Amino acid sequence: MKAIRISQYGGAEVLSFEDIDVAEPGEGQVRIAIEAAGVNFIDTYHRTGLYPLNLPLTLGLEGAGIVNAVGAGVSDLAEGDRVAWKSVAGSYAEQVVADAAEVVKIPSDVATKTAAAVMLQGLTAHYLVNSTYPIREGDTCLIHAAAGGVGLLLVQMAKMRGARVIGTTSTEEKAALARGAGADDIILYTERDFEADVLHLTAGQGVEVVYDSVAKATWEKSINCLKPRGYMVFFGNASGPVPPIDPLLLSQQGSIYLTRPTLNSYTQTREEYLQRTREVMGWIQDGDLDVRIGEEHPLENTAEAHNRLEGRHTTGKVLLIP
Ligand code: NDP
Repeated sequence: MKAIRISQYGGAEVLSFEDIDVAEPGEGQVRIAIEAAGVNFIDTYHRTGLYPLNLPLTLGLEGAGIVNAVGAGVSDLAEGDRVAWKSVAGSYAEQVVADAAEVVKIPSDVATKTAAAVMLQGLTAHYLVNSTYPIREGDTCLIHAAAGGVGLLLVQMAKMRGARVIGTTSTEEKAALARGAGADDIILYTERDFEADVLHLTAGQGVEVVYDSVAKATWEKSINCLKPRGYMVFFGNASGPVPPIDPLLLSQQGSIYLTRPTLNSYTQTREEYLQRTREVMGWIQDGDLDVRIGEEHPLENTAEAHNRLEGRHTTGKVLLIP
């Protein structure tokens, strides 16, 4: 079968479209024919070595498809089941072998591609607004990269919890998408000083929480946008990582909280994983959550998909089709 492999860290040119053997599922595992694989920013960190892994490897974590082989000891999944997942290494491929505990069945009225598009970014947005900082009615939050994959979902989920949402985007086209998702105010942070604008929009008060996945380019101003005792949530590194921070800075800014969450620590048990997935899928079924698939690329064109994501050319979800 075909897969996207890397044998060294680097730019998109290290992505290699190769033939690899199809594995058999072991005990507690299933094999899945992948219909769509999700592209996530973390895949670029794996490719560049920002998050180091053992090489060589098949890239990708997320996807959806149809079970085509079931290993011993798996009783709740059968051949032909439509399933999706957020964290199965080797998902940039035609098939993948996954632990049954890592996959969820897709509800019958949710499209396979939609499921592939929402697992990693949707569950991330879910834990950020419900658990990392549980937004309360009337809070104001700042969401950077509001038209991105996580961004558009985060805006919608923050609105569901009753927040006023201030978002940032780099272009007017992206601003329109974020407004369409429910953002109350959008700041073009490539043209304007977002710190000054946030303080202006909040009458000098600042916001209860900043969700910042851009990091290196935004972190200092993000911290300055917080109210005393506000929550600084750094959850990604799209422009590069945040440098080391002195805890004294947190006191100087008004006893603020700082966290650097990951999806894995918010889906620690199968129960927690299923509960978040059920809620996100339920919103899709009820028409309350719009999942925007911005673009699809054939698996062999993964390099182009990575270049577009890192070059800030994408909106919503990027999918790879094997
Ligand atoms: P996005 O679709 O949001 O793409 C990244 C966006 O970041 C761009 O579109 C761009 O939006 C903005 N950006 C700002 N500066 C840069 C830069 N220098 N280079 C590239 N992009 C930049 O990606 P994802 O939805 O996949 O991920 C968003 C973020 O969330 C990433 O940082 C990712 O690591 C993080 N994440 C964290 C998780 C966690 O659990 N901790 C889980 C999932 C994602 P614009 O043009 O509007 O500035």
